[in-house]
Amino acid sequence: ERLNNDFQFIEVGRKDPKKKLLRQRKKEFVEIYDLFKPQQAQEQAHRCLGCGNPYCEWKCPVHNFVPNWLKLVSEGNILAAAELSHQTNTLPEVCGRVCPQDRLCEGACTLNDGFGAVTIGSVEKYITDTAFAMGWRPDMSKVTPTGKRVAVIGAGPAGLGCADVLVRNGVTPVVFDRNPEIGGLLTFGIPEFKLEKSVLSRRREVFAGMGVEFRLNTEVGKDVTLQQLLDEFDAVFMGMGTYTYMKGGFPGEDLPGVHDALDFLIASVNRNLGFEKSAEDFVDMKGKKVVVLGGGDTAMDCNRTSIRQGAKSVTCAYRRDEENMPGSRKEVKNAKEEGVKFLYNRQPIAIVGEDRVEGVKVVETRLGEPDARGRRSPEPIPGSEEILPADAVVIAFGFRPSPAPWFADFRIETDSQGRVVAPAQGRFRHQTSNPKVFAGGDMVRGSDLVVTAIYEGRQAAEGILDYLGL
Ligand code: FAD
Ligand code: SF4
Repeated sequence: ERLNNDFQFIEVGRKDPKKKLLRQRKKEFVEIYDLFKPQQAQEQAHRCLGCGNPYCEWKCPVHNFVPNWLKLVSEGNILAAAELSHQTNTLPEVCGRVCPQDRLCEGACTLNDGFGAVTIGSVEKYITDTAFAMGWRPDMSKVTPTGKRVAVIGAGPAGLGCADVLVRNGVTPVVFDRNPEIGGLLTFGIPEFKLEKSVLSRRREVFAGMGVEFRLNTEVGKDVTLQQLLDEFDAVFMGMGTYTYMKGGFPGEDLPGVHDALDFLIASVNRNLGFEKSAEDFVDMKGKKVVVLGGGDTAMDCNRTSIRQGAKSVTCAYRRDEENMPGSRKEVKNAKEEGVKFLYNRQPIAIVGEDRVEGVKVVETRLGEPDARGRRSPEPIPGSEEILPADAVVIAFGFRPSPAPWFADFRIETDSQGRVVAPAQGRFRHQTSNPKVFAGGDMVRGSDLVVTAIYEGRQAAEGILDYLGL
């Protein structure tokens, strides 16, 4: 029943879902936020003013119909809300969990002027989780099969976004991934405390029910060639992500005890999921003084994974100030609560140690003039060097594109940074220089976000439908 008060936002403040106890959060790999209770979701959704020109919708990269589904939730109509939210988003329950809402939809909410933004992300997660629990599944009854088949390389958010739009338009997507589970970085990257893995296995079942086929444990270029896919399918979509580590380029990076972020995170996920191939891959931070270098989402995930593994201390050193950190503010706050110590304006210049890492030499920085992109670059302050003691160091400077060696054989062009060229405004959206091959997500944009990868996968599917004359 709709709550009858249009000034709800004055009487009812913004309230996030309850977090688990810190004691538990520091030890367990479980999501830290509880699901809203129906009454809470209804109350929070009803705070929405229903702005005529909703900024949240524009700021949301998939342009979700936010006020419309908030209204449906405030009326208790979850199934209609789920149907509507899936019109624009392939994985609303994932975005509700991992989008940096404070920089996107919620950052644009009118109620930020003194009242506190509507908890858009948590309501989005609530809608899908609740609808699934009620037995809701996407309605495919009006879809007419076209007989066309498209190969999708990569079961990350871009590939899944593409497959979702294709299958809803009667095209059969066959998704290839070298990993044993779908999700890409959602499964093998982002840790469970932000996104439990059962969310993706449930999605796999839902997609399979919709008619998406998965060929997991299958690497394109090794187990099957692109030529085979081009011969067998009507078109190909590539959503293969970015997997080249950025290095610091300073001495000591190869010392034992220095780890690349994703190796560390994946080993932890693999152990938790039972996918571990060799116990030697696991990096155990128990009892160690850990220093994490970097300030983005990946760094935050490494910090918090180290805490849960029982590290003696976790220090995160970042070369700019807190204001200029690139990741989600919410997760920085969560990391602080869990005991991570932050050192801002510290640039690493060397990793020191005899036979293994013993510390990180950092220099203090101050922010200089803004560069061409408006970001102020850090400048070292002479004479401010110090050594942070460390038993383990995790390098989380982000990722660069990793173009496959076979791209050239198929005339798939990349730009000077290694990103696949697949323009959104081309003749067919996200078509590469090989007319039968489309691409989107991190491999086209450079490392970015889950929600932008989903959007590009969906847009590329529209391009493929046009290309196939459907
Ligand atoms: P990916 O998710 O990388 O998926 C690519 C898939 O392609 C993978 O499954 C890979 O196995 C497969 N693949 C590649 N090559 C082949 C091949 N030859 N054959 C078969 N399969 C292949 N974003 C957020 O919005 N919020 C966050 O909180 C957040 N946290 C992050 C934390 C970490 C640790 C990392 C690393 C990233 C995080 N991101 C976050 C970024 C986000 O995960 C990515 O932007 C997003 O996953 C990109 O989607 P994608 O589909 O382009 O690529
Ligand atoms: Fe906000 Fe992300 Fe949902 Fe868009 S997809 S409404 S940005 S949480």
